[in-house]
Amino acid sequence: MKRLLILGGTAEAVRIATDLAQSLDFEVVYSLAGRTRMPALPECAVRYGGFGGIAGLRQYLLENHIDAVVDATHPYATQMAIHARTATDATETPIFKFLRPPWEEPTDERWLHAATPVEAANIVDGKFFRVFLSSGLGDITAFAYLTNTWFLLRSVERPDTPISLRQHHHVAARGPFDLKAETDLMRKWSIDALVTKNSGGTATLAKLRAARALGIPVVMIDRPPPPKGSLYTELGPMIAVIRHRLR
Ligand code: NAP
Repeated sequence: MKRLLILGGTAEAVRIATDLAQSLDFEVVYSLAGRTRMPALPECAVRYGGFGGIAGLRQYLLENHIDAVVDATHPYATQMAIHARTATDATETPIFKFLRPPWEEPTDERWLHAATPVEAANIVDGKFFRVFLSSGLGDITAFAYLTNTWFLLRSVERPDTPISLRQHHHVAARGPFDLKAETDLMRKWSIDALVTKNSGGTATLAKLRAARALGIPVVMIDRPPPPKGSLYTELGPMIAVIRHRLR
């Protein structure tokens, strides 16, 4: 039996873990950073919390006799991706990286591109005043200086710590979201701009479609470069390769 460590925090990671854990060939450990109080979980062993950097992950791999790592973290979880690649190189542990394809900008639409949340805040500054800030609660401090802008925030859970934005409303909701609900939400709160990350996938795509339908500009915080090395953008082929290579 092979021991697999799955670095999770995405819907795809749950699917990979659930699929491989059903096989008698694998013992699967699903790993989460531990920031969400009620995360979606696969039916396998789960561990929570950081490893303690590259050295900590390296030690974890050796001490737990991990045969392979699957990195299926979010496309913006760059630190974890780099740590995983470096620690597996050092221990000569096979690694399989899954990266969800990004959303494509429609040819007849112009997104306002930002490389970072700070750049996105600069785009909003003085131009937009009713913003749906859906890029994740981790980014909101970059927008805190925009005291004349009102923000609609959405996350799976209400944050434990106070929100640093002067004017805002928080909605706790877990995707997937549909076009009608997203359109109604943006209309209800008179949104004049959507700020988002290019997460890809279908669960949160409707917000882009709704913004397009309503003529609301999109401020897109672009993806960081992918980690070096090979990666998979489809689950089926990746799971098939893992099964084959770890026989
Ligand atoms: P990050 O900046 O790349 O990671 C920061 C640190 O958090 C890592 O160095 C590691 O700590 C710990 N960590 C991250 N993912 C982990 C995992 N799956 N298991 C154990 N430790 C983990 O990542 P992040 O942006 O904080 O994202 C954290 C988690 O949330 C990821 O699992 C990601 O898939 C998920 N997520 C992120 C986003 C986003 O927009 N960034 C969106 C949705 C979900 P140590 O160095 O101590 O090992």
